[in-house]
Amino acid sequence: MPPKVNKDKCDGCKAEHEPLCEQICPGDLMTLNPETKKAYCRSTRDCWDCMSCTKICPQGAIETRLSYQLGYYPAKLIPMMGTNKITWTCIDINGNVERFSFKTRNED
Ligand code: SF4
Ligand code: SF4
Repeated sequence: MPPKVNKDKCDGCKAEHEPLCEQICPGDLMTLNPETKKAYCRSTRDCWDCMSCTKICPQGAIETRLSYQLGYYPAKLIPMMGTNKITWTCIDINGNVERFSFKTRNED
């Protein structure tokens, strides 16, 4: 499922010369709404769910919703990047929460 941006959390990456989600999307799909200065995916049908934008967002503003075959709303995956690990929070359709942590390749 394409990324969903929480407009309350997205600050448009004001401190960056270009929003991080825009920089990292391999399909050049993420961009800022010129009026609201909030990010959105401009062509959801072209998104291949790589989740790079979700992982890089410093505000945790991008959610990946799971398809209805896997859970539908409110099921979702939320990544949290740490220095040497990434933690995925998985929320299923009943609101049950599980977390999985993995070491990243950026470890020193
Ligand atoms: S990376 Fe996050 S905070 Fe930055 S523009 Fe994208 S959604 Fe907004
Ligand atoms: S999930 Fe991947 S392809 Fe889809 S908008 Fe985000 S970075 Fe781009």
